[in-house]
Amino acid sequence: MPREVRVRFAPSPTGLPHIGNIRTALFNWLFARHHGGKFIVRVEDTDQARLVPGSIEAMLDGLRWLNIDWDEGPEVGGPYGPYYQSERLQIYHDLAGKLVTQGNAYHCYCSQKLPSQDSQEQRDRRVSASADCKCRDLTPGEISKLSKGQESKVVRFAMPKEGITRVNDLIRGAVEWRNETLNDFIIMKSDGFPTYHLAVVADDKLMEISHVMRAEEWLPSTPRHLQLCEALGYEPPKYAHLPMIMGSDRAKLSKRHGATAIGEYKDNGFLPEALTNFMVLLGWALDDKTDVVSTQTVIENFTLDRVTKSSAIFDQEKLLWMNGMYIRELTAEQLAGRMTPFLERDLSEDMLPVDQEYLQQIAPLLQERIKSLEESANITSYFFKADEEFDTGTLVQKGMDRDSTLSALKAALDDLSATDDFHQEKLEEMLNATGERLELSRRQFFGVLRTAATGRSVSPPLFEMLEVLGKDRIVSRIKNAVDRFSAAS
Ligand code: GLU
Repeated sequence: MPREVRVRFAPSPTGLPHIGNIRTALFNWLFARHHGGKFIVRVEDTDQARLVPGSIEAMLDGLRWLNIDWDEGPEVGGPYGPYYQSERLQIYHDLAGKLVTQGNAYHCYCSQKLPSQDSQEQRDRRVSASADCKCRDLTPGEISKLSKGQESKVVRFAMPKEGITRVNDLIRGAVEWRNETLNDFIIMKSDGFPTYHLAVVADDKLMEISHVMRAEEWLPSTPRHLQLCEALGYEPPKYAHLPMIMGSDRAKLSKRHGATAIGEYKDNGFLPEALTNFMVLLGWALDDKTDVVSTQTVIENFTLDRVTKSSAIFDQEKLLWMNGMYIRELTAEQLAGRMTPFLERDLSEDMLPVDQEYLQQIAPLLQERIKSLEESANITSYFFKADEEFDTGTLVQKGMDRDSTLSALKAALDDLSATDDFHQEKLEEMLNATGERLELSRRQFFGVLRTAATGRSVSPPLFEMLEVLGKDRIVSRIKNAVDRFSAAS
């Protein structure tokens, strides 16, 4: 019977979560859901100096926003807890002690040397100064002299000096390292906390993690983890290192390639389902042509042979395009619901609260034109409140003068005031006739009307929009345009 699939997302709370972190979480979650296994969140907070308050909350909020649910971890608990490494210190102490007793690790009394202090010879051999730390060979007598009864500063793992460490990575294939190139890395720090290496190996074992799926930048740590497993008698998990994410200029993804903290995508009007779809494609593909793919289809097909080895390219334009695609798939009610928080945030007080029924009529008119919910207020504001300040000069359309513009406004006002049937077909029929009577082209007459009704030269299709705006708003706006235009003459 194969082991149950148990995968983990192991964020360090050292900053706001970005696309790279969340892509790792997403791939682990998809893998777990594909296999009917468990997805675990474990907080790796052992680097006390780099803790950034609020980063775990932001991470969990990001996961929730994207509908990535976790079976074990913060808030939900689980049988393998605690899920914060800072609450598991005794475990790491005991393991470090065991490794020292076994001769696989040793107390180090050196003051820590910086890599910049490495000699040229060490650099040539790609061996850091710490690999030459003499503490590994100290006799008990020397130790007691050196330590003068004091605790050591750190505990180092004694890497085998020869041989090869191999991993059969599920994505990258076989990778191997010569042990002599790997230094005696620290497993317990002077502050009493373990390093990432010891904690990750311990917890992956104790939490019965079957597959470690993480960013490629962790690949060089893998031989260390394998050696630790060996020394502790653990069967290692399977490893799968996910491809790097690069900007479209092929440089490592950074802030200048667009918003990076996950909360910014939310604030910038991206739909979580669009961002999820976009992130899925950062290293995974259903086939060579499908871009828009439902999460359910991804779950059904999420196997590691579809993960690419080559770096994924983060293309902000593609994300916007995809967001637009998802916006167009929403029902009027859904779109209105999604727009509401943005309207509440960006519309001026006097336009609030937003009438949901009215918004549900407005939303479909704009659905084709927006790529991000962030545009909501700007693109709808004139539905809620007339722009009474617009430049009346813009009423005059090409080939028209002030007189013909004023006559057009007055004729429209008369006809619109006289009817109560504001269905778009009726309006079109009536106003077509008005335009013809005035000997204006459709472009001219409707241009005047559009500007008078909205204060803008671009809007959704005129008659649909007029129907939604309704008689009272339109009549009063055209009146206002007549007054302001006449006053300006
Ligand atoms: N805590 C590490 C990180 O922040 C996790 C690396 C791993 O998954 O092993 O990326």
